Amino acid sequence: MKESKKLGINTTCVHVGEVKDEQFKGAVSPMYMATSYAFDNVDVKRYPRYFNTPNQEGLCRKIAALEHTENGLIFSSGMAAISTAMLAFLKKGDHVVIQQVIYGGTYNFVATEFEKYGIEYSYTESDKIEDFLPLLKENTKVLYIETPSNPLLGITDIKAISALAKEKGIITMIDNTFASPINQNPADFGIDIVIHSATKYMGGHSDISAGAIAASKEHIELIWKTGINLGGNLSDFTVWMLERSLKTLNLRVKEQTRNAKIMAEYLENNPNIDRVYYPGLKSHPQHELAKSQMKGFGAMISFELAEGIDAMKFQNALELIKPSMSLAGLESTTVSPAQTTHALLSEEERLSRGIRDGLIRFSVGIEEDEDLIADIEQAIRATIRS
Ligand SMILES: *Cc1c(COP(=O)(O)O)cnc(C)c1O
Repeated sequence: MKESKKLGINTTCVHVGEVKDEQFKGAVSPMYMATSYAFDNVDVKRYPRYFNTPNQEGLCRKIAALEHTENGLIFSSGMAAISTAMLAFLKKGDHVVIQQVIYGGTYNFVATEFEKYGIEYSYTESDKIEDFLPLLKENTKVLYIETPSNPLLGITDIKAISALAKEKGIITMIDNTFASPINQNPADFGIDIVIHSATKYMGGHSDISAGAIAASKEHIELIWKTGINLGGNLSDFTVWMLERSLKTLNLRVKEQTRNAKIMAEYLENNPNIDRVYYPGLKSHPQHELAKSQMKGFGAMISFELAEGIDAMKFQNALELIKPSMSLAGLESTTVSPAQTTHALLSEEERLSRGIRDGLIRFSVGIEEDEDLIADIEQAIRATIRS
């Protein structure tokens, strides 16, 4: 089949990059588990850590098609993708500007590793474009953003960031995990390197760990060179699982996004909820910006329980929605950032980042909205009674 951007999104999800079963004509890609391949010439040496087994190569094409880029690479985790991308473009003496609110693992990676390599970094004060400019230096090589961000669903202006970086010859990287390729394609706005924790929406069933990068041929080549040294390739069994998961990416994420809008509106009108953070709500301060760069507003919501409703008790009272650290599965989950992801910060630091004790991050799944609403209603009643 001819692979082009013109294919519909579901056709892309199902077919692009499939490995043809020439031997038995099976309906799905055969799984090539070999770690050793005979070579006809020395140019093509297939090997898992070279990211070039048949299943890896096929899946890379699907990921590139989903993100509207020339090429892709798949890793064993989101952090393997993030660390490999950063180390591919940064060397001793280089400087990177990073958005203040980013995934905790990325924050830890920068905080614990960069000093060892002599890489300098600065964090912005906010996700506003004005805060990036003053931090740029002669040696700034990378600008790193994440939007929507975790856990308050802040929105960074992707077009403005890439314009600023292009003017100065700086590479831009985005963590596009929360939006997924269904709701946001940063390469269309000029971002160079698009990164995903495929453990989240791309996998979507809370059963695989993986990471992905989408970028130009030239940039993928550069990341690949560092990648074969760091060795963060994904096992071919999981590559196959990820291909299978991506076939329903659009169906899943569309439904989750639709549900999330209903849930956000319900929560906004609930007297026991003080505040809702969702880029799809008109009350979100960057709603217009989100509208200009997202195709859908995603399925992550955060909300603040009214004073007197304990976050832990509320989550334990939920019967259908599971309290869980991770996100983006078919099943709805919640997490209390103050008690988990941000527990190591002091209360003062947490409050300065807008993370109150009653804040709940809600990953909306595919269950019927009336069932989710009923679960939240009963959990609030049970918590107030207790
Ligand atoms: C989970 C996550 C990561 C890290 O991915 P892993 O697969 O756990 O390594 C990075 N960024 C975001 C936004 C995430 O949610």
